[in-house]
Amino acid sequence: MKKELINEMNLRIPALSVNEGYARYAVSSFVAQLDPTLEEIADIRTVVSEAVTNSIIHGYRDKKGEVLISVKYYNDRTVKITVRDRGCGIADIEKAMQPFYTGDPAGERGGMGFTIMSSFTDKMKIRSILNKGTTVTLEKTLHKSIVRG
Ligand code: ATP
Ligand code: MG
Repeated sequence: MKKELINEMNLRIPALSVNEGYARYAVSSFVAQLDPTLEEIADIRTVVSEAVTNSIIHGYRDKKGEVLISVKYYNDRTVKITVRDRGCGIADIEKAMQPFYTGDPAGERGGMGFTIMSSFTDKMKIRSILNKGTTVTLEKTLHKSIVRG
């Protein structure tokens, strides 16, 4: 079966903490079209929340900016979520991905965001350029729907 794009949505929001919940809700209600399981939808809400929070607090360090979120789904039930910022970027991606590593100067974060994002999805890709920004791509294939009849 040739992989084909079925539907997509794009969201551009100011990098404000109050918008994190909105982003999470918008993405999960879009994905609801695919009739996901409760667990799948919970995973999607969590990973969107982690990625968007990272852009707001680390990427922009609470300064002004925009977070761009795109969601695409394909005929093989793969959902591809991209969260992008034009913030400070990540100097060492390998290090940033390690469990419990946090670059937060106050040391108040758990350093588990990327670990959660990769374990709750099938594929995670991070692209980042210092002082240009970061793009996190998350892919998850949902269960095959049951054929009733
Ligand atoms: P937690 O997610 O558990 O609250 P955390 O945000 O520090 O803690 P991760 O989400 O795993 O942990 O991120 C690890 C580190 O990678 C961050 O502390 C930060 O230094 C860097 N980082 C992550 N996302 C971005 C981003 N969008 N822009 C700049 N730096 C980032
Ligand atoms: Mg985080």
